Amino acid sequence: MKVLKFGGTSVGTPQRMKDVSALITSDGQPKLVVLSAMSGTTNTLVEISDYLYKKNPEGAYSLIGQLEQKYLAHVTELYQTDEWRERTTIFLKEEFNYLRSFTKSLFTSFEEKAILAQGEIISTNMVTNYLLEQGVNAILLSALDMIRTDKNAEPDFNYIRERTTAQLEANPGYDIYITQGFICRNAYGEIDNLLRGGSDYTACLIGAAIHADEIQIWTDIDGMHNNDPRVVEHTEPVRQLYFEEAAELAYFGAKILHPTCIQPAKFAGVPVRLLNTMDPHAPGTIINNEMQRGTIKAVAAKDNITCIGIQSSRMLLAHGFLRKVFEIFETYKTSIDMICTSEVGVSVTIDNTSNLQAIKDELKKYGTVTIEEQMCIVCVVGDLATQNVGFETRACNALQEIPVRMISYGGSNHNISFLVNASDKKRTLQALSNTLFD
Ligand code: ADP
Ligand code: ASP
Ligand code: MG
Repeated sequence: MKVLKFGGTSVGTPQRMKDVSALITSDGQPKLVVLSAMSGTTNTLVEISDYLYKKNPEGAYSLIGQLEQKYLAHVTELYQTDEWRERTTIFLKEEFNYLRSFTKSLFTSFEEKAILAQGEIISTNMVTNYLLEQGVNAILLSALDMIRTDKNAEPDFNYIRERTTAQLEANPGYDIYITQGFICRNAYGEIDNLLRGGSDYTACLIGAAIHADEIQIWTDIDGMHNNDPRVVEHTEPVRQLYFEEAAELAYFGAKILHPTCIQPAKFAGVPVRLLNTMDPHAPGTIINNEMQRGTIKAVAAKDNITCIGIQSSRMLLAHGFLRKVFEIFETYKTSIDMICTSEVGVSVTIDNTSNLQAIKDELKKYGTVTIEEQMCIVCVVGDLATQNVGFETRACNALQEIPVRMISYGGSNHNISFLVNASDKKRTLQALSNTLFD
């Protein structure tokens, strides 16, 4: 069986929901389909939660009302029969009354996560109802019964495998299994999520769990482009990526994929195909276990990076210095992305600054600490093994005019990363595109 995931734009209007339904039923093959919330909905739910955190129930109430009107209008457009219009209207009214119930109670991150889950719950119910109205043999399985995170907020893979398999075995013979992306339960059984853009992660976790033939991520662009199309002009689709290359691009900012979604597919050896819902016959990108030699594939950028420098003459010829430094980051559960060392100093980058002050205070015991904010990691991905003489030079040459704060090369065979000021991001990406892909 294949697992197909459709993102927010792909189900963003009633017409798109109809198109997706036609697409998933066209070949008669059984499928497991993961859906995101309609585009814009999760952002509105975040905004509603923000009003509730700020103890402004009127603000939340007004946004809930606007969203409800939008959805009720979709019902008229999506369904042809009174029966399914009525059923879906009743469902939506219950949903929006549920959202309204949060305006009367204490508001914590627990309530926020329950609110954020409703976008996917609504979209999957609407599409399943549409398929049923069309006479398709479809069933909705709740992701809340299949996807769980552990105490470290990481997916609990054994649980996911057992529960997904059990759900499919308990409901045999359907042509289309629909489920929600993004949402899950945590180790305490509470509603949680896999962070923004997490529907890709759901699809890859499920695809790996059931050893799917293929995981397809359907979105609004023809596959992974060789640079960020939101920033750089004339980007081109990349037709094939090695798992590691795709994982690096996703982690370092290629928004088309959730940062960690490739890992489960890679471990299970399930190929991932990126496809365009707006142009279903376009070839897209296949991500698999084949490493193409001698090519640089793509460039991506990760924003909101903070660089921490620690200078200390005590580091000179001393052993154990780096361990002490890294222990501080471990204590504050802050992961490091890039690292460069010299005899008298070390620089690292982080993207989670929630414990920055405490980390800085601890690091001061070991040296002089400097913090540089608003930086950006630009990552070049491809066959960058050391024996490929000259590839890293080409990337460095592209950046002749740009102040580069750190360079990381040799950590893997697939990546060279540069740390630059966020204000230089656009020209860095453009310069790399001009040099590497023209
Ligand atoms: P979905 O809602 O389907 O999950 P996303 O908005 O999360 O879609 O991801 C698709 C978007 O990712 C594209 O519209 C594009 O603007 C952006 N994007 C950023 N970098 C890349 C890249 N290297 N290749 C393709 N798309 C990219
Ligand atoms: N709806 C969620 C979001 O907007 C998850 C997703 O679309 O992947 O982040
Ligand atoms: Mg996405």
